[in-house]
Amino acid sequence: LLYLDNSATTPIHPEVKDAMLPFLLEEFGNPSSKYYDLAAYAKDAVKIARQNVAKLIDCRPDEIIFTSGSTESNNFIIKGITDQRKNKGKHIITTNIEHPSVLEVCKYLESIGFNLTVLEANQNGVITIEQFSNAVTPETIFASIQWGNNEIGSLNPIIEISKICIEHDIFLHSDATQVIGKRLISLDNLPGLSAISISAHKFFGPKGVGATFLRKDQYNLFPPITPLLHGGGQEEGLRSGTLAVHNIVGLGKASEIASQRQNKNIKKLNELEQHLIEILNSKFGTNIKYNHSSENKIPGIINVQFIGINNEILVKKLAPVIAVSTGSACSSSKPSHVLAAIGLSLNEIRQTIRISLSPYIEKEDLNIFNNL
Ligand code: PMP
Repeated sequence: LLYLDNSATTPIHPEVKDAMLPFLLEEFGNPSSKYYDLAAYAKDAVKIARQNVAKLIDCRPDEIIFTSGSTESNNFIIKGITDQRKNKGKHIITTNIEHPSVLEVCKYLESIGFNLTVLEANQNGVITIEQFSNAVTPETIFASIQWGNNEIGSLNPIIEISKICIEHDIFLHSDATQVIGKRLISLDNLPGLSAISISAHKFFGPKGVGATFLRKDQYNLFPPITPLLHGGGQEEGLRSGTLAVHNIVGLGKASEIASQRQNKNIKKLNELEQHLIEILNSKFGTNIKYNHSSENKIPGIINVQFIGINNEILVKKLAPVIAVSTGSACSSSKPSHVLAAIGLSLNEIRQTIRISLSPYIEKEDLNIFNNL
């Protein structure tokens, strides 16, 4: 099987598995316990993992809070920061191409009294700086703007938006789930971006673990940030619960590998993407239409409409040899709100598939498309 649904999830890298195994077996200590070696070893492992995640996105290790993944990180930041800042204003901004773990949380906040602006992405799947600027009011306290899109690979102008947020004292969060390891990120150079969300399983780490980057200058404000999980006070009191050491070690190792291979992976994904598009073009010509961003995109995400062909039938037919998807795995039962947002009709959406590549396959593997 040629697995080409890497935006839904990726397989665990063999080195990640090897790093995790001891923590599923003999190294079972609780990193919050004291005085004996088993606990100290777990604590050290968590510390190294934290350093590796921080290195990948160029921030300080004490700005990394381990969570169960991006869904939790998105919920934590959106609910926690809006609760902390609610006395300053009630207006929040997001976009109509966010993952449900952002969009649904914002709609929930609207239902309890916040004013929500949902910016509409343009045909390229991005919001513009002007759109963002125009949406800002003196009441705006928070914005959550996706960095890169999981279905069409579009990239929002986060650097420019972060500058506007500094000017207006808006807390800016970005869901970076799909760009980690596929785009060089330096949070140290982006002071206006205060939080991002990360999931390990999107870049060859395990499922059920991720991180929130939360800028250190946000920690000791008053009132303090409201945690999603109250309890024993782990992760600086912001995310209680015994740390999932094996998973955190896996996230750390995946981050270390991503740091080392990032440039190589980006180049490879671009080459693979170009190769696949050449194959598809020569085989299907005008019977296909691409929906993914044409430039400035996440490498390796191809979104393509097979004109006149039902996507579910196509994906099922391919399934024994090639795994692709009809869209995002998180909302695969509903027609894509992202494709609708960039102007596709329901009919066009139902003819569209997403192919998401991995840097660990070879060009020759893609020749299988020639034999369809
Ligand atoms: N945001 C984006 C952009 C995603 O692609 C995903 C996963 N599909 C998530 C958030 C949620 O991640 P997780 O399911 O690991 O919590």
